[in-house]
Amino acid sequence: MKNMTINNSEVSPLTHLTEKEERFRERTQNFAKHYVMPLVFEMDKSAQIDRGLIEKIFEQGLMSIEIPIEYGGRNGSFFDSIIAIEEMAVVDPAVAVFIDVQNTLVINTIMRWGTEEQKRKYLPMLAKNTVGAFSITEKEAGSDATALSCKAKNVDGGYLLNGEKHWVTNAAEADIFIIFAKEQKTEGEEGRLTAFIVDRRETNGLTICDSEEKMGIRASSTCNIILENVFVPKENVLRAIGRGLNIALETLTDGRIGIGAQMLGLARGAFIAAVEYAQTRKQFGQTISNFQGIHFPLAQMSTEIEAARLFVYHVARLKSAKSDFKELFTLSSMTKLFASQVAEKVVSQGLEIFGGKGYMKGNILEKLYRDAKIGKIYEGTSNMQLRLIARSFNIKI
Ligand SMILES: Cc1cc2nc3c(=O)[nH]c(=O)nc-3n(C[C@H](O)[C@H](O)[C@H](O)COP(=O)(O)OP(=O)(O)OC[C@H]3O[C@@H](n4cnc5c(N)ncnc54)[C@H](O)[C@@H]3O)c2cc1C
Repeated sequence: MKNMTINNSEVSPLTHLTEKEERFRERTQNFAKHYVMPLVFEMDKSAQIDRGLIEKIFEQGLMSIEIPIEYGGRNGSFFDSIIAIEEMAVVDPAVAVFIDVQNTLVINTIMRWGTEEQKRKYLPMLAKNTVGAFSITEKEAGSDATALSCKAKNVDGGYLLNGEKHWVTNAAEADIFIIFAKEQKTEGEEGRLTAFIVDRRETNGLTICDSEEKMGIRASSTCNIILENVFVPKENVLRAIGRGLNIALETLTDGRIGIGAQMLGLARGAFIAAVEYAQTRKQFGQTISNFQGIHFPLAQMSTEIEAARLFVYHVARLKSAKSDFKELFTLSSMTKLFASQVAEKVVSQGLEIFGGKGYMKGNILEKLYRDAKIGKIYEGTSNMQLRLIARSFNIKI
């Protein structure tokens, strides 16, 4: 990794926040505590995010963090999005991914690649009350996204989209979809991969299937979507026909930092609960935190959480500073890989500190244990992150 030179006056510890960032963190923490925490188990059970909560999340500005003021947003930074995702995940990783997809994938894509017309049309609605989703995966195209077969047929004034998309986060609540499809060509010719903005309120032929029953992050919706002759005007092509791969790669690079933040918050949530329990549960006439067999794993957990925090913050700061894409590309994969490993380990150790209680429904560790697994799967599995990291030292893949 190359070193960057900066002025002495610019050097500040990675975990130091500006006053504005600190205020934003506190507001998000309070919001999560007062409005999300009381609903966590009910939403996990019913496998949906409370409608009233979604309205409050919009009112709080958490669905429009980086949208500039002129489009109705909070005018915050990428780092602010990371703070919000982390703090939300301390309380509920399912709600964290709801805001993560909106900010780091959907809004990010439109702000970065959208035309002025697209920004004027879609950013204000995303800031106000419209949920977004980002859809690449298909039945036969998971890790290998280039294998996708959803087709875009060129017709008068736009494109007709046909195909089936899998496992789209936020799809149950979303109206705006970023959908990746290939140009329909004649037999034997490969169409170019392209990203389209699809507003389901303005088109026919888009069916959202029921949300999947999942092991973890259950309140977050994950639906297949079916596209049958969905007309998309040519004005809704993102950047240009054939730019889909760039858009996907660059957007997911940022998205992976978001998943790193989600996993960091989840690990913090598990740690906080385990410390509290260790200080109150008594066995052998004393609190279990007195036993070395309990406080040593807690010390190990806090050390690993701190390492994950430094990693996530470092890469988020680099992203906010508009660092070189190649550098970010590798580091964001490392961040997601590492933070998801830490989360899984920390939550497992935390659950053991709760003993049998940690294994019971209604215990937060039981829930976080189920939630943690997804960090190693979506936005590229851990194997895919390792593959991308290996590319940076010129290993032929
Ligand atoms: C809850 C949830 C939410 C999701 N949300 C979205 C979303 O919003 N939008 C979206 O587009 N997608 C979404 N996905 C899809 C997700 O990104 C994919 O599941 C993921 O990329 C892996 O693809 P796959 O499941 O098809 O696994 P596969 O690609 O079939 O992989 C299976 C196994 O093979 C390994 N493997 C594959 N290729 C290689 C290789 N070359 N080298 C080594 N190992 C390899 C993988 O690491 C994995 O262990 C979501 C998935 C889930 C579960």
